[in-house]
Amino acid sequence: MDMLTPARTWGVNDHKHTHPPELLERMRWPQRIAMLATVILPFLGFLGAIALLWHRQDGIFGIGWGEMIVMIVMYSIAGFGVTIGYHRLLTHKSFDCPRWVRLTLAIFGSSAAQGMTIRWVATHRRHHQLSDMDGDPHSPHTHGFDGLRGLIVGLWHAHIGWTFDVDRPNLERSVQDLLADKAMLFIDQLYLLWVALGIFIPAVALSLWTGTWEGFLAGMIWGGLLRIFLMLHVTWSINSVCHVFGSREFESSDHSTNNFPIALVSLGEGWHNNHHAFPTSARHGLRWWQFDSSYVIIKLMSYVGLAYNVRVPNEAAMQAKLKKPAAVETPEFAKVEASTQTVE
Ligand SMILES: [Zn+2]
Ligand SMILES: [Zn+2]
Repeated sequence: MDMLTPARTWGVNDHKHTHPPELLERMRWPQRIAMLATVILPFLGFLGAIALLWHRQDGIFGIGWGEMIVMIVMYSIAGFGVTIGYHRLLTHKSFDCPRWVRLTLAIFGSSAAQGMTIRWVATHRRHHQLSDMDGDPHSPHTHGFDGLRGLIVGLWHAHIGWTFDVDRPNLERSVQDLLADKAMLFIDQLYLLWVALGIFIPAVALSLWTGTWEGFLAGMIWGGLLRIFLMLHVTWSINSVCHVFGSREFESSDHSTNNFPIALVSLGEGWHNNHHAFPTSARHGLRWWQFDSSYVIIKLMSYVGLAYNVRVPNEAAMQAKLKKPAAVETPEFAKVEASTQTVE
């Protein structure tokens, strides 16, 4: 178990009403239950979905319209809650928004069952501070093995193995801004409620629509458990796949990559090399052809005043960070001409 920081080190803003180290201690039980539920329940949902499909013939491939609609709606609410809320807003402050939008996004993100808001943000800030170095909570590159074994061990750890690790020490130091917000702490403490509502609401919706208990079960699975299962693996793929497979356009001190298929299913988060090069950018798909649905939503939010001060790097900043061509590809004559400016 990691040691919690003594209370006095929290005194930056000297909160009278909260006592964060105790708070983090109280978080541990919900955290453990949530972790267990996160691994087991969505997988049962996945099996349940297969079982339900067994004797269904309507819709597409046996999947009914109701199931598809609750899946798409809930995937969008929880997914954008994580990508726009947890990640681009709360972790990286890539845009500003009204307070109620900020809190609503935290609730939406919680329903993805990827962890309590403040802990998620703390873990992800640590990932950026120490990306692919010792201390990175989920790097596929820091496990001391070579070759195929190293690849497999690394990918396993980055994808799912890291979720069973104890918290890194002093994680809470990086989230003073969130701990200072009482409403955010309140939402954080109700994490399991948001997860439960994210499963229960689509279940009720589909049972009302179909007027059957079978609808309730299908809604719980397609809008809840299966949706959580799929989304967890998509998000974990950013940590595993997008630090190993894909292309790198920009210089960054890690192995982050851009990966088109992952970007598509992860609502734009798979442009991960771009993101490590420009962490505070609200836009991850920086090129016109790099589709980034989360940025499309942030843009739409900005038109109606739900987002402002949206941060995006300009062309000059992007040019300055472009990856230098590898030395072996430089023709001999070019090397002579450029020798006075060449840097390794
Ligand atoms: Zn990363
Ligand atoms: Zn990030």
